[in-house]
Amino acid sequence: MKPFSYARPADVAEAVRTVATEPGAVFLGGGTNLVDHLKLGVARPELVVDVRRLTSRAVVDLEDGGLRIGAAVTNAELAADRRVRERYPVLAQALLSGATGQLRNMATTGGNPLQRTRCVYFQDVTTACNKREPGSGCTAVGGSTRNHAILGTPGVLPDPTAAETCIATHPSDMAVALAALDALVHVQGPAGERLVPFPELHRLPDDDPSRDTVLEHGELITAIDLPPLAAGARSAYRKVRDRASYAFALVSVAAVVPGDGEIRLALGGVAHKPWRARRAEEILRGAPLTEHAVRGAMEAELTAAQPQPGVDGGNGFKIPLVQRTVVATVRDLALEA
Ligand code: SF4
Repeated sequence: MKPFSYARPADVAEAVRTVATEPGAVFLGGGTNLVDHLKLGVARPELVVDVRRLTSRAVVDLEDGGLRIGAAVTNAELAADRRVRERYPVLAQALLSGATGQLRNMATTGGNPLQRTRCVYFQDVTTACNKREPGSGCTAVGGSTRNHAILGTPGVLPDPTAAETCIATHPSDMAVALAALDALVHVQGPAGERLVPFPELHRLPDDDPSRDTVLEHGELITAIDLPPLAAGARSAYRKVRDRASYAFALVSVAAVVPGDGEIRLALGGVAHKPWRARRAEEILRGAPLTEHAVRGAMEAELTAAQPQPGVDGGNGFKIPLVQRTVVATVRDLALEA
């Protein structure tokens, strides 16, 4: 592991100022992802700035009926919060489907959505990876693609030598639920505070796969707001994975039926970001949520899918799998009505 300096600032403003003025500085939250990356050599910071005690560790009621979650609230605390379990079950279920009890005791609200891809080549510093080392290429193309993206990718056969190629998926379950809930992210940066709609927090690789989110260097998540849902709103998270626990999603779906004729669908395990299925949502707006309708809407959504071939058989299986997962999740929500 490369040696680094460690700082524990007195407040958020000092932490932001410290990271913003040092290009080699990173924030330390729960550390469940960063510490792995320090050991693997994936992250090689000059300075680690500890923010674990600087942001709120409380979940507070908002006047509009929503909730504000402090960035230091752990995943375990959030999943156990009665208001979250009763009003936002999709979030509690997503949190409990992630990692292990020990990791959920450490992982934080501000850090979990910023965890990085589990692409095996990203974590192997002996391989070419545009996300870890911009311009080096993408070993995943034509390699092991079982866990990789089918949506938002540059094509069925992207150029593995191109600097913009990346077919990685975003790994956070919590983030998929927050995308479906239209959560709002409070960000403090060197230029002040700003609010980022959660579905816009993460980005596609575009011309720079090294950037996972729209956050600038030195910007820190301080809280996340959950907008209110009407009484009678329903929501659920369903995750498909290779084993029953401690595994990342092959595909997942967060579904929210707010009760106003709309449905919100976010998909995990299929793209570089939590994927809002906007086309399917539009088709289903005001329609009865029958299996036939949901299947048709997802067929339309998935016409853009680009399954990747690979030495492990590729990831074409995700197309029917994500469709079946959405249909089953919405069917269960419709039965609750
Ligand atoms: Fe790196 Fe992305 Fe390619 Fe994985 S898919 S090797 S993270 S560039």
